[in-house]
Amino acid sequence: MKTITDISKYINKLSKKDKELFYRIYNFTEDFGTLKIPLEMREWTLKTFGDVKSVEKQKIIRIDNNVMFETALFNELRTKRPIDMKTTEDVEKIIKEKIGDPFCKPLTATPKDSFGRIKGKKCITASNIAKYDAMHGLVIFNEHNPLKFSLEDIKDYIDTTDKWIKKAHKENPDRKFPFITWNCLWKAGASILHGHIQILIAKNKHYQGIECLRKKSEEYHEKFKSDYFEDLFAIHKSLGLGVKTKNCKILVHLTPRKEKEVIIISRELKDVSEQLHSVLKAYKEMGVESFNIGIYLSPIDKSWKMPVITRIVDRGNLFEKTADFGGTEVFAATSVIGFDPYKVIEQLKKEL
Ligand SMILES: [Zn+2]
Repeated sequence: MKTITDISKYINKLSKKDKELFYRIYNFTEDFGTLKIPLEMREWTLKTFGDVKSVEKQKIIRIDNNVMFETALFNELRTKRPIDMKTTEDVEKIIKEKIGDPFCKPLTATPKDSFGRIKGKKCITASNIAKYDAMHGLVIFNEHNPLKFSLEDIKDYIDTTDKWIKKAHKENPDRKFPFITWNCLWKAGASILHGHIQILIAKNKHYQGIECLRKKSEEYHEKFKSDYFEDLFAIHKSLGLGVKTKNCKILVHLTPRKEKEVIIISRELKDVSEQLHSVLKAYKEMGVESFNIGIYLSPIDKSWKMPVITRIVDRGNLFEKTADFGGTEVFAATSVIGFDPYKVIEQLKKEL
């Protein structure tokens, strides 16, 4: 099986054209961190990491996206660890205990938007009671358990989200920059456990993460006369980290924001549901219990256009007290990654 720590070999094997494309966006550094384990620590080291040698000389792979200014650090010692299949027994118990929460009775326990509610087959919309931004809606799932979803469910959630955006924009035409997010459970920032999607529509300008992607991809296009997103996908595919489906291009990100990041590139929002379902199935197989999904959409008035970009990240073990974001992530735009992207793509291919 391929591994991120051998990425230099895969890059070297690329055709001249693919290699040039890789270095147009990325570069990588392979380095070793060395240390000495005292005699007293040997037993513990063996028990924790399997062998002492690989701890005393650790291979670090740094990957930089020089267009988007993203850095990821992969440590072989961390990525070598087997897939961590977590038990969900406690989670299921906690989820069950919360049955009866406000989202279980949205009609009476959540406010509606000034334009009313949109009712899907599997969900209903509400207005967020304490808003991030002036236009902030919710799609509340009929299903209480946030880890239980079928393809039909996700299709309906996305469809209802789309209807809400159109309705909200019609009522408030000056609000036109939509962003969709789905935070699953507390590690991902969800304050209510019951499954739900949040939708924001910005007024004068899109949110900066999306503005940045748009601006830099436009500059890229101008400079290289080539589409940034097509090239991004082509690089991932040539390295065995991209898959093309009927309507989407899917990649396991070389510079992930956090663990197991998958990016789906599609033309339309409705094309996302099926692939998103496959990604979440793969996540479940890998033991993921808490995740963030973010969907970047172009302005509704079509004043500029970008593909629909859906990003999914794992937010780590629900019962681990340590947060997955430290100072490096918060301040240095650098993600410390412990899970091998090649393990993610292998699992994902089984679900597609
Ligand atoms: Zn509920």
